[in-house]
Formats: sequence, structure tokens, C-alpha cells
Amino acid sequence: MPLDDPYKKTIARHHLLMKTVCRKCGSLNPLKAKKCRRCHSKDLRLKKREVSK
Ligand SMILES: [Zn+2]
Repeated sequence: MPLDDPYKKTIARHHLLMKTVCRKCGSLNPLKAKKCRRCHSKDLRLKKREVSK
């Protein structure tokens, strides 16, 4: 499904960035996750970048 609406694109990109990355195994986890779902490490960092236009 192509996203022609720039507003929807922004939302989609935003949600892609709203993730956490495990520092131990590098897997992506939900933002609300307290522990890594793969290795159960609590060492999660935010995957947050500047949203470029
Ligand atoms: Zn992990």
C-alpha cells in the first residue's frame, strides 16, 4: 500500500523509530518493553533518531 499522504508517512516513520534496541543482542523490542524479548536483558536503548524530511 503506497503512502502518498506525507502526514501518514510521518506517522509511519515515527512509529518505526519508537522502538528499543537491546544492547546485548541487538534485537528490536517494543517501546514499552522492560526486558529484551530474546535474551531478557534489561539493557535496552531507545532507537530514536531525528526524523528527516
Ligand atoms: Zn537482547
